[in-house]
Amino acid sequence: MIIVIDGPAGSGKSSTARAIADRLDIEYLDSGALYRTATLIYLEANRDEDTFFRLLNQKKISFYYEDQKFHVAVDGQSVTDEIRTAEVTGAVSEVAALPRVRSFVNNLMRDVVLDGIYVAEGRDLGTAVFPDAELKFFMSADLEERAKRRFKERKDQNPELTLKEVKQNIAERDLKDSKRQADPLKKADEAIEIDTTNLTFEQQVDKICSKIRE
Ligand code: C5P
Repeated sequence: MIIVIDGPAGSGKSSTARAIADRLDIEYLDSGALYRTATLIYLEANRDEDTFFRLLNQKKISFYYEDQKFHVAVDGQSVTDEIRTAEVTGAVSEVAALPRVRSFVNNLMRDVVLDGIYVAEGRDLGTAVFPDAELKFFMSADLEERAKRRFKERKDQNPELTLKEVKQNIAERDLKDSKRQADPLKKADEAIEIDTTNLTFEQQVDKICSKIRE
C-alpha cells in the first residue's frame, strides 16, 4: 500500500510525510533524496555522462528512515548529509531531467514499496511512478512562504545563505522540474490539493491524516 505526496520545493512535503509516517507507524520514502544521491555520483563523475551511468550501475544505493531522518548510503558509506549541500541542490534538477536517471530511481522505489506500507513524497509519484497509489496528495504554497520555510530550515547549517538565494534556487528548480519532458512536476487529476500557505504544520498534518483515516 502506498500514499503519495507530490509538490514543489518547500511546500512542506518532507516534514509532513515524516510526521505522517511517525503518527501512523508506516514507512517513509523520500524520492528527492534518491535524485540527490544520483547527483552526488554525477558530480563525482565530473559531470561526464558515460562515467556517471557506469558508476550509477556499479554502486549500491541503500536507504532507510529512522529518527525523523531519511538515511542514504552509497556502497555502505553514509551520504545523508552530503546530498543536502548547495552544490548538489544546484545540480539536481539537471540530473533528474535525464530519463535514464528517472527510470533508475523509479525502479529503486518500486522495488522497495513491494514490502510494507509507505508514505512517499516527490514531484511525479502520483502521475508517473505510482499511478495506482491508494491515496494522492499535492501540496502547494506561495513561493515567498516556501522560500522562508526552506531558509529557516537551512540557515543554521549554512550561515552565509540568504533568503534571496533560497528563493531563487526554489524558483529555478520549480521551473526546471515542471518544464522537463520526462515526468514533470505535476498534480495527478485525482490528487487532493492542500495549499499550506496559511496552515500551521500541525494543521497540514492533521488534514492529511484525517483524509487517510477516512
Ligand atoms: O525533494 P527535494 O527538494 O529533495 O528534490 C530534489 C530534486 O529532485 C527536485 O528539485 C527535482 O529536480 C528532483 N525530483 C524529481 N522527482 C521527484 C523528486 C525529486 O525530479 N519525484
